[in-house]
Amino acid sequence: MTAERHDPNVPGQPGLAAATIGHNLDVPAVALAVGAHPDDVEFGAGGTLAKWAAAGCRIHHLVLTDGSKGTWDPDADTAALVDIREREQIEAHRRLGGAGADAVVFCRRVDGELIADATTRSEVARVIRMVRPDVVLGHDPWKRYRLHPDHRAAGQLVCDAIVAARDPHFHRDHGLAPHRPSDLLLWEADEVDHIEDISSSLDTKLWALEAHESQFESTMHATDDAAMEQFRQRVRERGAQIGSALSMTAAEAFHRIDRL
Ligand SMILES: [Zn+2]
Repeated sequence: MTAERHDPNVPGQPGLAAATIGHNLDVPAVALAVGAHPDDVEFGAGGTLAKWAAAGCRIHHLVLTDGSKGTWDPDADTAALVDIREREQIEAHRRLGGAGADAVVFCRRVDGELIADATTRSEVARVIRMVRPDVVLGHDPWKRYRLHPDHRAAGQLVCDAIVAARDPHFHRDHGLAPHRPSDLLLWEADEVDHIEDISSSLDTKLWALEAHESQFESTMHATDDAAMEQFRQRVRERGAQIGSALSMTAAEAFHRIDRL
């Protein structure tokens, strides 16, 4: 497959440039996905999480910001938007096969102002130590030319928090045992070296994305049924392009770090 350019500022799936790539981890018992905003997890890894959940994996979401800037309406009630987006995120989690609100954690940093600081790193590490995931998934902080600061910071936080969670001398105040996941999968990857087959779960990914009704206009550009169908088609085509490298009907792309 030829390398192709993909706009690093469009949410979802990156270009696939690597010639040799791994695929399909063993289904983990527990997975934790860490997104900057409500909907980022579904764009980045919704198909993978749905596939694993259907095979018995317990999936967890951690969302770092409150999503309060996720509208083009300058007169929007942003406090109400935060509530709406949290409900949408819990519904999306359920649609992927998650257990519900108890498996979705919100850090509620102000949208657009996420900083990879020590306090937030500690919060993320605490969730890792509590959930004890086999696989952690998050934004790739090394994605070149990406504008959105929250996506960069979220990626940095998940990587830094893995180090903090695994080492016993970090954050003794947690009162929790250290935890070392076996794999980290970074979506929006700058260098794709791993793909997950989502042929069986692409429709579930779309269904979960469509739980984020408040984002239909600003993120999905789906202001009517025809535009929504075009959005679905874009997601399907992107999944097919990624999967074609390994003869899969649809796939999601990651950079895998497995020496944690
Ligand atoms: Zn985002």
